[in-house]
Amino acid sequence: MYLIFRCDCGRALYAKEGVATRKCVCGKTLKVKSRRIFKKVTTREDASLAVQEMQDKIYGNTDFQLASDL
Ligand SMILES: [Zn+2]
Repeated sequence: MYLIFRCDCGRALYAKEGVATRKCVCGKTLKVKSRRIFKKVTTREDASLAVQEMQDKIYGNTDFQLASDL
């Protein structure tokens, strides 16, 4: 299983279940157990996809496109 969670900087990350810590690209080391888990998936492909979907929501790609039409 893979766990999907978020760093304090807002980035979405995934970690294999059982892994204690995960380092975010912002430099912060996160304790997986102390994070709120958004989703659990079975494969790394699903985990990577779920992170991508979360990033799209966080950065609001659709909103950005609409704003650029103004
Ligand atoms: Zn971060």
